[in-house]
Amino acid sequence: MSAATKTPLSQLLRVPAGPVSLKDFDAAATPGYPGTGKKDAEKRTEGLAAELSDLQERLFANGKADPEQSPRVLVVLQGMDTSGKGGIVRHAMGLVDPQGVALKSFKAPTEEERKHHYLWRIRQALPGPGLIGVFDRSHYEDVLVVRVEQLVPEAEWSKRYAEINEFEAELVASGTRLIKCMLNVSFEEQKARLAARLADESKYWKYNPGDVDARSKWPAYMEAYDAVLQECNTAVAPWHVIPADRKWYRNWAVAELLRENLAGLALPWPKPDYDVTVERQRVDAS
Ligand code: AMP
Ligand code: MG
Repeated sequence: MSAATKTPLSQLLRVPAGPVSLKDFDAAATPGYPGTGKKDAEKRTEGLAAELSDLQERLFANGKADPEQSPRVLVVLQGMDTSGKGGIVRHAMGLVDPQGVALKSFKAPTEEERKHHYLWRIRQALPGPGLIGVFDRSHYEDVLVVRVEQLVPEAEWSKRYAEINEFEAELVASGTRLIKCMLNVSFEEQKARLAARLADESKYWKYNPGDVDARSKWPAYMEAYDAVLQECNTAVAPWHVIPADRKWYRNWAVAELLRENLAGLALPWPKPDYDVTVERQRVDAS
C-alpha cells in the first residue's frame, strides 16, 4: 500500500463508538506500524523528528504572529502506572523543540486545588497559543482514581462525564486540538515492569509502593477506564487506545499521532507584519 492510501493511525487506534471493554484490546498489538519491529523502531521514531520539528515550528510561529487565531494542541496521556506516560514525554515529545512544549503532570490535588472545582487546575494548565500541551494524567483522574477510591460520592463523579464532554467541546471550539491517548498496558506486563524497577538500583526511584495498591484494584480501574472510553469518546474529542506493552511501538505511535494531527492543521508560515523588500534593503545598507 502506498503512503498516500494508508489508513491514518488516528483511525486505527480510535476507540469505536458504543460499549467499550479494554479486554477486547490487545496491549501487545502494533497496528499501523510500518517497519519490522523493535529493531527499526527507534530509527523510525527519530525519523519523524525532522517533520515534527518543522510542523511544531509552524505552530509556534503562528502562535507568535497571531495569538488570538493560533491553534493549540493538547496531548492527554492516561494509563495505569508503568504504562509509559513518562516514556512518551521523553521519547515522543522529546523530538520537538522544548520551548514549544508545555508539560504538566497532575498529582493528587493540593489543599489549594481541593478548594476549587476539579477543572480549575486543568484550565490553568491549558496550552497557550502555538504550544503543544502535554498532560501526564488529567481531568480524567477525577473519574478514575476518584471513582475507584470513592473520593467523592457516585452522585458527584457520575455527573462528570457529561461535564468533561462539555469542557472538551468548548476547548476544541476555541481552537485546541485534543489528542487523547490511553496507554494500554496489560496486567502481566505491569508486573514485569514493577519487578524490573525493584531489580535495578537505577530504577528504584521510579517505584512507588502505592502502585501495588492500585494494581490490587485492577478490575475496578479497568471498569473505570471502560466508562471513560465509552462516555467521553466524542466526535470532536475522540479517545485513542495505544497498545503499550511494547515500549517501542507506544513511543512511535504517539509521535506519529502527533505528526498526523500537526500536519492536519496545515499551517502556513505566518506572513510578516513588515515589508520584506524594504527590510532587505535596510539590512543591505546597514
Ligand atoms: P504518578 O503519576 O505516578 O506520579 O502519580 C500521581 C498520583 O496522583 C496517582 O496516584 C494519581 O492517581 C494521583 N492523582 C492524580 N490526579 C488525582 C486526582 N484528581 N485525585 C486524586 N488523585 C489523583
Ligand atoms: Mg507512578
